[in-house]
Amino acid sequence: IQTAKPLWTRLPFCRVTEEDLAFFRKILAGRTIVDPDLVEPSNVDWLKSVRGSSEVLLRPQTTEEVSQILSYCNSRNLAVNPQGGNTGLVGGSVPVYDEIILSTSLMNKILDFDSISGVLTCQAGCVLENLSFYLEERDYIMPLDLGAKGSCQIGGNVATNAGGLRLLRYGSLHGTVLGLELVLADGQVLDCLSTLRKDNTGYDLKQLFIGSEGTLGVITAVSVLCPRKPKSVNVVFLGCETFEQLLKTFQLCKGMLGEILSAFEFLDSECMRLLNTHLKLPNPISDCPFYIVIETSGSDPTHDAQKLHNFLEEAMTSSLVSDGTVATEEAKIKALWSLRERVTEALTHDGFTYKYDISLPVERIYQLVTDMRKHLGNRAKSVVGYGHVGDGNLHLNVTSPSKDPALLAAIEPFVYEWTASCRGSISAEHGLGLKKRNYIYYSKQSQAVALMGNIKAMLDPKGILNPYKTLPDNLKQ
Ligand code: FAD
Repeated sequence: IQTAKPLWTRLPFCRVTEEDLAFFRKILAGRTIVDPDLVEPSNVDWLKSVRGSSEVLLRPQTTEEVSQILSYCNSRNLAVNPQGGNTGLVGGSVPVYDEIILSTSLMNKILDFDSISGVLTCQAGCVLENLSFYLEERDYIMPLDLGAKGSCQIGGNVATNAGGLRLLRYGSLHGTVLGLELVLADGQVLDCLSTLRKDNTGYDLKQLFIGSEGTLGVITAVSVLCPRKPKSVNVVFLGCETFEQLLKTFQLCKGMLGEILSAFEFLDSECMRLLNTHLKLPNPISDCPFYIVIETSGSDPTHDAQKLHNFLEEAMTSSLVSDGTVATEEAKIKALWSLRERVTEALTHDGFTYKYDISLPVERIYQLVTDMRKHLGNRAKSVVGYGHVGDGNLHLNVTSPSKDPALLAAIEPFVYEWTASCRGSISAEHGLGLKKRNYIYYSKQSQAVALMGNIKAMLDPKGILNPYKTLPDNLKQ
């Protein structure tokens, strides 16, 4: 399988001049940021693993302003990096060279909520957690939830097609996003902001932009179908001796909990060690090689409790799980969830982290962690596995005290070859961004990648939108 050769040179975009700044200041008075100290946080990604050198941060508030910015940048051949909450994990959210950063942070208005259909329409810069709070007051919830909810924005979620902790129950954003408003590279506004559940009037264009990582257009507004807030939520934290037992527990859980199952997540004992060491989070049960977080959400507390009780009894008596604890009240639910949600954060304290977000047939997902440990021996500081078992999505992370090119050479392409041999995906939910773009061929046929290139050329002929990201470099040479 081919890996595209990296192109480490700046593409021939123009550089920002004083006249350009004067134009931006005219349309964004006080929101054209050039103070290096204020631009700096937007040049560095959440993991502090990639850094750009942009000198201009633009903070539009309206779709019309985004349209004016892009129309101008396109005519001047200035590259633009759309940015939401800057929590992306593949280096897609920050510039590589001096691309102008277009932040959606001030586009944070809720535009409409229909309490009959449950459709929420809002600007792209709304922070996911704020949307959740807004909806909970109205007895609804967002169909997605993830550890970065306090900072990530709905536009960024859509641009990365974020999966997260509720995908098992509510499906992906390809199903729950009903409409998008976009600004194309030349400034044209594309209004696909439908709130209809059914609309087969030709191609479903919005789907192209879900997961396009800011390379095809800037998302300015989103309409999303939201589920009712469940009346009863339970979280169970269980321990298993083997991954086979964990998988059997998953099967049992699907069968016995059925429609109330809303999440089935796992972490291994190495993750627990990092949570204990770096975040001082205690293990609520006895030490086990594997831990499971199961969430149920339903509309009848008595019925849900009975189902959960039957399931736990069966799982314990058949020795699938060796220990466990149940939470029904909010504080304990939060505490159990944080063991799963804060693994990413714990890893950042362990050292430099090499992150892999892999989709595999569910029965194979932990084998990759075991094989990677064997393959790396004592070259890595920690090799940990956690993720969304219910979706066949493994987060494999390898840490070292500092950036280590020799370790990286040992991990890649091993991890990609292993994944391709199972017909897995080298990016389950984080996208390709800067870091994974050249490995796309491990998971996508070359004809499909070429078609992606044609679509990009049609929508953004000058390639100004998030250059160096998502598409492999051989399409840009
Ligand atoms: P950014 O990071 O700002 O941008 C991400 C990409 O989208 C970039 O390519 C950017 O150019 C583009 N973009 C952003 N906004 C727009 C826009 N309006 N229009 C066009 N393009 C845009 N991901 C999961 O899928 N599941 C998880 O469970 C999960 N957990 C996470 C936990 C933590 C602690 C962290 C730090 C990250 C996690 N992520 C997860 C990564 C995930 O991709 C992001 O958190 C989120 O979806 C990105 O949103 P953002 O607003 O921060 O976007």
